[in-house]
Amino acid sequence: MQIPQELLPTDGRFGSGPARIHPDALAKLGTRNDIMGTSHRAKPVRDLVANVQRMFAQLFNAPDGYEVVLGNGGATTFWDVAVFSLIIERSAHGVFGEFGAKFAKESADAPFLEEPSVNEAENGDLALPKREECDVVAWAQNETSTGVAAPVRRLGGFGDALFLTDATSAAGGMPVDVSETDVYYFSPQKNLGGDGGLWFAICSPAAIERARKLQDKREWIPASLDLVKAIDNSAKHQTLNTPSIANLLLIESQLEWLLENGGLDFAVARTERSSQLLYSWAEKHELTTPFVKDPLIRSQVTVTIDLDERIPADDLLAVLRENGIVDINSYRSLGRNQIRVGTFAAVDPADVEALINCLDWTLERM
Ligand SMILES: *Cc1c(COP(=O)(O)O)cnc(C)c1O
Repeated sequence: MQIPQELLPTDGRFGSGPARIHPDALAKLGTRNDIMGTSHRAKPVRDLVANVQRMFAQLFNAPDGYEVVLGNGGATTFWDVAVFSLIIERSAHGVFGEFGAKFAKESADAPFLEEPSVNEAENGDLALPKREECDVVAWAQNETSTGVAAPVRRLGGFGDALFLTDATSAAGGMPVDVSETDVYYFSPQKNLGGDGGLWFAICSPAAIERARKLQDKREWIPASLDLVKAIDNSAKHQTLNTPSIANLLLIESQLEWLLENGGLDFAVARTERSSQLLYSWAEKHELTTPFVKDPLIRSQVTVTIDLDERIPADDLLAVLRENGIVDINSYRSLGRNQIRVGTFAAVDPADVEALINCLDWTLERM
């Protein structure tokens, strides 16, 4: 099946991560032999890191005293950083999908921590942590696997526990008041137009103090998982070990583009528009339904849409892929007949309109 050329989006990448990287940022990368392949301890790369840190602080309007910390390994590594450097004895988790569950499991598996408190929702619903004795409270702002979005808010009744927000697919595409959390952490390969492999964490003074206390208290913290080492290196615009300079350049381009166009408000307006186009389409079409029933918790960056059983998702995805529209598959372990569209900041809403036209065209013929 060949979709008519005039219906196709200009860019067919709609994945939920790794996600669309701006073509201009990729092109610019090819011209940067002044910095690619040069020392990450020398001034040009440290200036690049400093610029990225400064722009993140600006994008998220980081409150006084919050620091932009970075390290290698992505959000998955940051869960282990948190296990060693932020959780004293016990964490409380709100789990509403795969990513939240993975962090809860890391905490549960650590032999030096107590069994965490886990409040788990059915797929497609939201669960925030239960008010139980704990020193870290954690959930994701956007659960990329199900398309459920959550508020970033200091819930009452948790004493002086630290709040940790996994913002990997939300950061740079959903609104946030960073003062409502202690650690706003994310990988850059979703809204932030970068590649995988780095983690960023915007840390409150309380989080920094906690990490320093735990470094004294714990018998052993692996160097690559020691948040204090990352904090101290980040203050010098470095990382403990060699970062991907190409990745930092891509992130720098994306941040420049976002800030030039109005910052987070600009990004949020785009993701809002793109996701609303898809949800209203899915509500009207007889073969589709939004997977997340409650509109208040529907994600504006990862849109999950169930398909009627007469339309096997694999067949639809195969047709689209042949036509250059890629990666709108559902999260694998969800096991649903579903599509999932990444509507991140880099995705032009006009491309989402084109995608909808392509879906209409294809569904009519299947
Ligand atoms: C993608 C994702 C992760 C994992 O990120 P990695 O960079 O692969 O470690 C974690 N949490 C959320 C919410 C995600 O979307």
